[in-house]
Amino acid sequence: MAESSDKGANDYFSSTPLYAEDGYLKEFDAKVVKAGPRFVVLDRTAFYPESGGQHSDTGVLQHGGQEVEVHKVMKRGRDIFHYIRGDIPVEATVHGVVDWEPRLYNMRRHSAEHLLTGLFEGEGAGPKVYSDLERLDFKPSALTEEIVGRVEAEFNRIVEADTPLRIYYASREELEGEEDERKRSFLDKLPRALQRLRMVEIPGHALTFCFGTHVRSTGEIGRLAELEMTEGRKRRKSVSFLLE
Ligand SMILES: [Zn+2]
Repeated sequence: MAESSDKGANDYFSSTPLYAEDGYLKEFDAKVVKAGPRFVVLDRTAFYPESGGQHSDTGVLQHGGQEVEVHKVMKRGRDIFHYIRGDIPVEATVHGVVDWEPRLYNMRRHSAEHLLTGLFEGEGAGPKVYSDLERLDFKPSALTEEIVGRVEAEFNRIVEADTPLRIYYASREELEGEEDERKRSFLDKLPRALQRLRMVEIPGHALTFCFGTHVRSTGEIGRLAELEMTEGRKRRKSVSFLLE
């Protein structure tokens, strides 16, 4: 796949998603392009909107000497809506500050979700049918306690190795040519307008497309404090995880 710095996300968002270019950006300046009672849409934003199992960022928008709280951020159509406790008019310039502690915790857990997905797939855990920042579900699953133990040890070894994540863009055509059935069915569900996809790779362990926020390297994820399997019905198995 050709490496590219193209901002493929612009096909998908009306605002420049600054968090996709730099997941460590905590403050930014922007202009209000749409406003209504208790919400604004900005021309650019470092606030991550709730999606793909990753939680919405919170924080503040500073404007005219005031600080307005951002309590939720969501994508509606192509717009990223910032829900605020106050009103800010269109054309206003704002300075945004992201609540860093919860955001970093979300990035660590979301990056762990990528790594665990790759490791469990590598162990033939079965098709992943659900995952979030605390849990992965496989069905039908051939998971055993022995596999869970191996994945836990491997996860912690990769964290110790502090492997850098690699993020790049690839075209839909390049990905559609691939054999992987699961990736193809996921591609089918994405809007056709989205022609360039953002790929997130933990080299040697996990590769998927994702517009979420991630840590720079595996060392920042931190070790697992807990990795626990529970058996559901009809060969569904869940693994819950907790970081140290
Ligand atoms: Zn991701």
